[in-house]
Amino acid sequence: MDQNETLFQRARALIPGGVNSPVRAFRAVGGTPRFVQRAEGAYFWDANGKRHIDYIGSWGPMILGHGHPRVLEAVLQAARDGFSFGAPTEREVELAEAIVRHLPAVEMVRLVSSGTEAAMSALRLARGATGRSKIIKFEGCYHGHADALLVKAGSGLATFGHPTSAGVPAEVVQHTLVLEYNNIAQIEEAFATHGRDIACLMIEPIAGNMNFVRASVPFMQRCRELCTAHGALLVFDEVMTGFRVGLGGAQAHYAGLIPGFKPDLTVLGKVIGGGMPLAAFGGPRAIMEQLAPLGPVYQAGTLSGNPVATACGLATLEAISQPGFYEALAQRTRSLVEGLSNAARETGVAFSADCEGGMFGFFLLPALPQNYPAVMKSDAPKFGRLFHGLLDRGVYIAPALYEAGFVSSAHSAADIEETVAAAREVFRTLG
Ligand code: PLP
Repeated sequence: MDQNETLFQRARALIPGGVNSPVRAFRAVGGTPRFVQRAEGAYFWDANGKRHIDYIGSWGPMILGHGHPRVLEAVLQAARDGFSFGAPTEREVELAEAIVRHLPAVEMVRLVSSGTEAAMSALRLARGATGRSKIIKFEGCYHGHADALLVKAGSGLATFGHPTSAGVPAEVVQHTLVLEYNNIAQIEEAFATHGRDIACLMIEPIAGNMNFVRASVPFMQRCRELCTAHGALLVFDEVMTGFRVGLGGAQAHYAGLIPGFKPDLTVLGKVIGGGMPLAAFGGPRAIMEQLAPLGPVYQAGTLSGNPVATACGLATLEAISQPGFYEALAQRTRSLVEGLSNAARETGVAFSADCEGGMFGFFLLPALPQNYPAVMKSDAPKFGRLFHGLLDRGVYIAPALYEAGFVSSAHSAADIEETVAAAREVFRTLG
């Protein structure tokens, strides 16, 4: 009897779709989700006891792999000292210090429990600090499930968006303008039309929620210039890219390409919690001091800065700050991307791939797409066959076309080789 299927049946009886977050349900690829029994290093074992090489890593947080000894020790020690106090602790200060040390754009930081909460709070702060209502987001970028951010493009550029979820009133998204990623003409027009009303432009600088699409340098530069010229805040959603594409996140990457570049606000999550529920948002002192209890923008949380989560995040940040960590991680990730690309070429499969630090993406398309409509041209049934072929061979990638993948420091050269060999076999069957 397939234990994954048995568990899925039990789960579906009580939990909508059998899962506590929709993408886990395998709806995009069909089949039965794997229920994880335990994980260690680069692997997890499912309910049947089958081992998988894990390229999801909890959707990004597990940059050290599962059960890193020093992180585990820090978490156990913190748990012994108490789970939650609802009062401040030294570790919150230490984590804030660690974040600020690595991100020059962040002078102050507020800890929260999820990326959704961090993005929602950053948005409220941007609106509160500017006294404006309108916001810009981009089609294909995901910033969590706050109402104002669950929006798709309206019928024309100058019109505001439509909700992408039932339960979000049209009035709630009437201030959200949804534009095409990497389209400079559209942001110019949007600022020309609405400039004095725009509180912020929120962007995934390397968009991991349409698999892997980089903001072009001219586009990013124009986003910065227009925000500055119109008094809007540039908000970098680095929930996925923060401490993942490099120690300084995507903002350090763009600062290396655009002299003096900095976002105004930064949204963080995933890696900073090392697998525990922890996220954050931060920025310049003058803006962050608008938050309660100092300022008029309200924001709070019972479990914010949780002592066990902060211990996990701190131990993770300490491990990834060691010299050479990102060079080794990037090298391993590149070897995966190159191996997959070569295997696709040998077997005649249209394929394009990209990576930065420990994050990668690939498309069953001959060239890397630059925006959401181009990503949507991917062949979904073919991806489903690739996904299941890999899964059968013990390689676990995201069960959806539009999701980035993650390599951890626990992935060995042998893991990458095994993955590429599995992919080569599956590519041969794709035709
Ligand atoms: N922002 C980005 C870029 C994300 O990738 C995600 C989640 O995947 C979120 C925000 C929301 O984070 P969470 O799932 O922790 O609420």
